[in-house]
Amino acid sequence: MGSKEVSHPKPHAVFVPYPAQGHIKPMLQLAKLFNHKGFHITFVNTEFNHNRFLKSLGPNSLNGFPDFNFETIPDGLPPSDSESTQDIPSLFNSIRKNLSLPPFLELLAKLNSSASSCSSSSNNNNNNNNDIPPVTCIVSDRLMLFTIRAAEELGIPIVLFITIAASVFMAHSQLPALVEKGLAPLKDEVFLTNGFLDKVIDWIPGIKDIRLRDIPTFSRIRKPDDIVFNFLLEAVQALPKASAFVIHSFYELEPEVIDALSSATANPNIFAVGPLQLLLNHIQQDSSSSSSSSKQIGYSLWKEETECLKWLDSKPQNSVLYVNFGSITVLTPQQLLEFGWGLANSKQTFLWVVRPDLVIGDQAVLPPEFADQIKEMGFIASWCPQDQVLNHPSIGGFLTHCGWNSTIESLSAGVPMLCWPFFADQPTNCRLICKEWGVGMEIDNDVKRDGVEKLVRELMEGERGKEMKRKALEWKKLAQEACGQNGSSALNLDSLVKHVCS
Ligand code: UDP
Repeated sequence: MGSKEVSHPKPHAVFVPYPAQGHIKPMLQLAKLFNHKGFHITFVNTEFNHNRFLKSLGPNSLNGFPDFNFETIPDGLPPSDSESTQDIPSLFNSIRKNLSLPPFLELLAKLNSSASSCSSSSNNNNNNNNDIPPVTCIVSDRLMLFTIRAAEELGIPIVLFITIAASVFMAHSQLPALVEKGLAPLKDEVFLTNGFLDKVIDWIPGIKDIRLRDIPTFSRIRKPDDIVFNFLLEAVQALPKASAFVIHSFYELEPEVIDALSSATANPNIFAVGPLQLLLNHIQQDSSSSSSSSKQIGYSLWKEETECLKWLDSKPQNSVLYVNFGSITVLTPQQLLEFGWGLANSKQTFLWVVRPDLVIGDQAVLPPEFADQIKEMGFIASWCPQDQVLNHPSIGGFLTHCGWNSTIESLSAGVPMLCWPFFADQPTNCRLICKEWGVGMEIDNDVKRDGVEKLVRELMEGERGKEMKRKALEWKKLAQEACGQNGSSALNLDSLVKHVCS
């Protein structure tokens, strides 16, 4: 896979992520891959997130993105100094109302008009903007619907980026069918009917044995006027307008559903390209200009604390449980305690990332008596470089909320999981991790310390844990092959680039 393969005129892709950590990171990774394939990149964050991004990366913030032009659009929410992810329903509502076509069209017009000279008012990285080519395509998160209208107005292709598993995307795309069958939005009575949520849904193409309780929570919402539900329904209805889809997965992981997506949707241009970090690693190994691509660059809205890596260096192989609930999940104070005591009682060594806003309505503070236990067996950080942590030889397991990025990063690193799904696509990912891929065990939703202790021991020391580790290493190998020369993801990336350029 060589870099800078596309000859003149240089294509220019404008990347627009959904404004949350779990969408921005894979979008930046995808943009880097396009950059390696010879594209000029404009990356568009909301003002709120761009400021957080610069702050978290520090003074030389954008050095890891030497050829990128960063731009911002307002998200319409009141200015905030908060270091938290904005609340999801408000964000959906605001995107629908405020992240609208006019500012984005203005930005595209500015980019096109400054095709040969750099606008002084832009937030660009100022490294390589003397020669901005006209915009040739938009690569947008599937939830940023205004970008589809912009592409239509400009008559350029739009690639929708799917930052969830192919199986979840397929389940989401069945939302109109679920509505038609009376299975969405769910009526209150349903929750009183014993076993209703355990009903197996057997008609979703490429997916077998999925229960109603395993489909993404946004599809199981109860109120017909729910903002998120209606937003997602609109997003499904807009899918046929895309020129192509790129899914952050790899063919070998979800073959049936990826095949089914290609034949079930009106659009056969579906490219499974992932795991993105492995593809980047592979390209960077191949690339002669590795320095400009800097192997470990930050993609985080929080400052990454790297001290934990040194601490991990001092631990034996496969001996540490990594605990992280991602960027949005919140715990009640009681749940924090149950996890904390479960970990302490398991007597296993752990690295626990406790975000400052992890606990509802409060700073996440662990009780003093727990702090003593931690000194002996644990390390607490508030945000970490997750890819490096998961790939550290000391890590033996991952207690996760099953966000899709965390899931695919764990599979890429060959690390088995303990699953405590919180919302959205996480229950579906949990089902896939535990039942389809055999690399995880689920912690009861009503989390109790005894349950945590038992499963942590089982994962780190038990026979089931060993079997899961073995399977996880098999998935790691398949993921690496997919990203290596002539691997499915590497070839799909090439086909995607060709498709966009044609
Ligand atoms: N992440 C990280 N450091 C942390 C916690 C999370 O770098 O301490 C990254 C993680 O690698 C992943 C993303 O943040 O790529 C979280 O996305 P995910 O889909 O797992 O969960 P979400 O935050 O969207 O719920």
